[in-house]
Formats: sequence, C-alpha cells, structure tokens
Amino acid sequence: MRGAVLYAPGDIRVEDRDDPKIVEPTDAIIRMSATCVCGSDLWEYRGISEIDGPTPMGHEYCGIVEEIGEDVTTLRPGQFVIGSFIASDNTCPHCVAGYQSACMRRQPVGREGAQAEALRVALADGTLVATPEVPDDDMLPSLLAASDVLGTGWYAAVAAGVRPGCTVAVVGDGAVGLLGVLASSQLGAERIIAMSRHEPRQRLAREFGATDIVTERGDEGVQRIKDLTGGVGADAVLECVGTGEAMSQALHSARAGGGVGVVGVPHGVSIEGRELFRSMVRVQGGPAPVRRFLPDLIDRIWQRRIDPGKVFDLDLPLGEAAEGYAAMDERRAIKTLLRP
Ligand SMILES: [Zn+2]
Repeated sequence: MRGAVLYAPGDIRVEDRDDPKIVEPTDAIIRMSATCVCGSDLWEYRGISEIDGPTPMGHEYCGIVEEIGEDVTTLRPGQFVIGSFIASDNTCPHCVAGYQSACMRRQPVGREGAQAEALRVALADGTLVATPEVPDDDMLPSLLAASDVLGTGWYAAVAAGVRPGCTVAVVGDGAVGLLGVLASSQLGAERIIAMSRHEPRQRLAREFGATDIVTERGDEGVQRIKDLTGGVGADAVLECVGTGEAMSQALHSARAGGGVGVVGVPHGVSIEGRELFRSMVRVQGGPAPVRRFLPDLIDRIWQRRIDPGKVFDLDLPLGEAAEGYAAMDERRAIKTLLRP
C-alpha cells in the first residue's frame, strides 16, 4: 500500500509500505476512506519534536472494515467506522470513567501511520464506532473530523466547563480552536470570543458560532477579553495552541472560579505555581478522550446538525501529502484532507 512517511523536517514522502496485517486477535484492518494532516503532525514536520528515522505519519482516520481478528465481536467487514487516535479497550476503569485516552491498555494509532491506504487498529471493539450505514461522500470530511479535531475541540469545551449561558474565550484559531467554538456553541454558550487575526479563520469561527473576535494577543488579548466581559474574564477558556504565551493568555483570561481546558500539546510551557494559585481557575487538559464523545458526535453529524468538515479547506489525493503539509505549515490551509 501507499503511505506518507516523514524522513526529516520538511521531507514528507508518499511511498510503498507493507500492507497492515492482523497482529492481535483484537485488531481490525480498515481500508481508508479519508485521512488528514493534524496540527500536531507539524511539531515533527517542523523539527520541533525529533523523529528517530523515517516515520509513518497520521492518526486521524475513517474507513471500511476489511478484516477483523478472531476475538472481535462487535464489528463486521463492510462497516464504515471511525476511531480515536488512541486505541482503547473501553472497559478498564479509566475508560468507564470517560478517559479512554488514559486507557490502561491504550495504544497510539499514529504509530501505524494513518496517512495511508489501510490501517491496523488495535482493540477494535473498544476503539471503533460504526455509522448506521456507509455514509454519502459529502459527509466524509465531517466524520473524519470526529476522529480527532472535533473530539479534541469538544473535550476542550467540556474540560473548561462550558455550559448553557456561559461566556467562552477560545485561544487558537487552528482547526481544534475553531471546532472548540463549534462545541461551545452546541453546548449552549451564550457568548463565544474567538481569538484570531486571520480573516478566513475569523469567518469560519463566526459560522461555527463565535459572537466576538479578538485579534490582539498576549497581555493585550487578555485585556480585550476583560474589556468584553465587564472586567471579569471568561467563564471558560479553551487553550488550543500549546505554547507558553497561549497558556498564559488562557489562564489570565479566565475569571476566578472559571475553567481552562488545555488541548494544545504543550511545547515549552511551564505554569508557575504561585500564578496558578492566585488565578483561582480550574485547569484540565490532556490528550482528548475522543472515544467518550464519538457516538454523540457521529449522531450530530449523521443528522446534519453540525458540519465540522468545513475546517478542511484543502482536499488532496494522498500522493500529494507533501503539499498538504507545506500548506498547513505556511498557514495557507487550515487543515488538509487526504484521499487515498
Ligand atoms: Zn481502557
């Protein structure tokens, strides 16, 4: 099969890789319908996170079950499925509590490289969720978004404590931040302040439910949030970047008693104890337990109540993955969909 492999910073190649095979009896093999490039793939692409030799890339996926291991009981070949970037059994204490990304048997799906024609998914019964039928082609981008970015934006909103009537600030205008806006809107937030200085992203944020746009960053951005909230701060803040500046901005934008949901993978972030102590905010973060939200998200997409697939503004054949990465790196594209 063909798959995307990162050789060095900026060097993505689509090449022949071994076809995935059932390794454990709990595995499934899926034929990829669509996959994509994640903002977090750029950490390696930019050389900020190091790689140890040629590395298969990608952890977002949806497709048709092709083969199942002998212990898989809930899936059958031919079904269309979506799963999270972390394979989970969905039965251990962490899974039962809704934290499948901390599953005691968790396995990173990305290790298999989902930007490919096929993929081995471990713990298939726990990990994969089937749609009612094979979806229409126009629904693919939204279903694919549920695999990571939508679920991650959703978790950011839930972790920040978004509830009906509240005021939300979203730090970060990448696909996750934009879908954090969508999630906040769906969860009933009354006011959603999106922080973005890029016009096309501001437009999408408004389409997803943002009521205000703040273009300032850092201390000025915090001041704007305060100005817009009568000096109080936001009830819930979504940190969807992962830099020290974004984290600081998020902490200082929340009101006393508010919450910050952190889903940007931290790079060079440190929170000073006294600063956290004085802020009086609740902070929850981590790799999103996307599996918790998948059935609900798939249902909302299936009923066409939400269209998170709009974050894909570049749609390329898998063979052009290099251009897909470059466009996101240069911020020419919000998110690249790849079709095997
Ligand atoms: Zn588990």
